[in-house]
Amino acid sequence: MAPGTDLAELARLAADCVRCPLAEHRTQVVFGVGDPHADLLFVGEAPGRDEDIQGEPFVGRSGQLLDRLVLEELGVDRSRFYIANVVKCRPPDNRDPRPEEIASCRPYLDAQLELIEPRVVVTLGNFATRLLLHTDLGITKVRGRSYPMDTFQLVPTYHPAAALRSGGVVLAEMRADLVRAKQLMGWDT
Ligand code: URA
Repeated sequence: MAPGTDLAELARLAADCVRCPLAEHRTQVVFGVGDPHADLLFVGEAPGRDEDIQGEPFVGRSGQLLDRLVLEELGVDRSRFYIANVVKCRPPDNRDPRPEEIASCRPYLDAQLELIEPRVVVTLGNFATRLLLHTDLGITKVRGRSYPMDTFQLVPTYHPAAALRSGGVVLAEMRADLVRAKQLMGWDT
């Protein structure tokens, strides 16, 4: 990233990205949305069909659940946090992003972290958690606590799609993880 690049400039650069083959299939790059100086950042996996069409992360059913849970547990909407994905372009047929695609896209997420400087990062599901926590462990093993990273606290939680599929315990644990993020933010006082 060139010195002085800001988030809007980075988004403009990303819009023409051809660093990996996902560029061939996408409608548009889904860079991220929200407060560019947010203290709270959510990181998902990759855009799905709705996100690819609308150009915004988490606008489908998973996103609607995420917005509702964040509003209910933290009392804030998207104007108060930032939301991005590990991979900025939709993998065809909603397949998992491949390691080389994640590696190609990594500089964008790193730059988002550097420019936004969040205090708390909530990773949604295995892909974001493994990448940012530098682990091979699955989300069920690592969730339930926070992890101090160099410049932020990481709170791993389930992907909202898992909560949509499973409900019950997964949903309750996801709420508990969001409360953990709220406490770290000091928003619970
Ligand atoms: N799932 C994700 O991980 N990210 C999105 O933006 C939408 C669904």
